[in-house]
Amino acid sequence: MISALTHGNEICGAHALAFLFEANIRPLRGRLTLLFASVAAHAAGRPARPEPARYLDEDFNRLWSESILQGPRQSRELARARALKTVIDSADYLLDLHSMQDPGLALALTGVTEKGKRLAAAMGYPEYLIADAGHAAGPRMRDYGDFALAESAKTALLIECGQHAEPMAKEVAIESALRFLAALGMIAPETLHRLSRHGAPERQRRIAVTAAVTVRDESFAFAARYLCLDIVPKARHDDRKGRRAARPHPLRRLRPRDAGRGAAAGRDRRSPRPFSRLSRTAGGQGPCHARGGAAT
Ligand SMILES: [Zn+2]
Repeated sequence: MISALTHGNEICGAHALAFLFEANIRPLRGRLTLLFASVAAHAAGRPARPEPARYLDEDFNRLWSESILQGPRQSRELARARALKTVIDSADYLLDLHSMQDPGLALALTGVTEKGKRLAAAMGYPEYLIADAGHAAGPRMRDYGDFALAESAKTALLIECGQHAEPMAKEVAIESALRFLAALGMIAPETLHRLSRHGAPERQRRIAVTAAVTVRDESFAFAARYLCLDIVPKARHDDRKGRRAARPHPLRRLRPRDAGRGAAAGRDRRSPRPFSRLSRTAGGQGPCHARGGAAT
């Protein structure tokens, strides 16, 4: 399954699904489900803002646990999630395509299980793989049910394709979708070669989320202007009274050998082997432990 519009204002995934329809993609194996998730939020927008809304009542991507889905709460997003539940339950692999509010490079959020990292390595794309445990505000579709269980083969990957309005986000979403399908053997390597819009990175880099720092009130401000993936040698954050509120946790880049054997061996990244074959050989020892996550 490939999911677009999980957030109604993040349209890169919808462009990717339109591309797959226009290319008349038919899976060589299995069943391919293309999901436009928050179509109502995308269509409606909010009265004060003409552009598409991220959601109508609550974040669609914070609802994905049985206790929430089967609980008493009601919202338009919960109604949509409940309607889609059986479809998502039936998916063995999920690629969830998002975009970001701020400019930044594409990021694959693999989760902390090895299977998520193996799928991203099999795709050979994008360059940066973030191992994060989930979102404190509620479970994402990527972390729903068997997707989060190490002992299950079901695998989900969330890709942040770039800033919402950035044209490159659409290209990243298309490339991600094609490489996801190729990694699973659902399209032929020749099809990927023919349709691929840009090459894969020389190597992938893994970043572990070791702690999450959450904004607690509107007094928050960055000490300087930071860009996504900036390296901060000695990071810390302070509360409003200037007291140090968390121990330093500088960004740590992991060695490239941890980001998939394919990259280390100089394999042609445009021809990823089927994931089922690669998964037996790419059991990398990802030293990734994570808590918390970003607003995805
Ligand atoms: Zn999103």
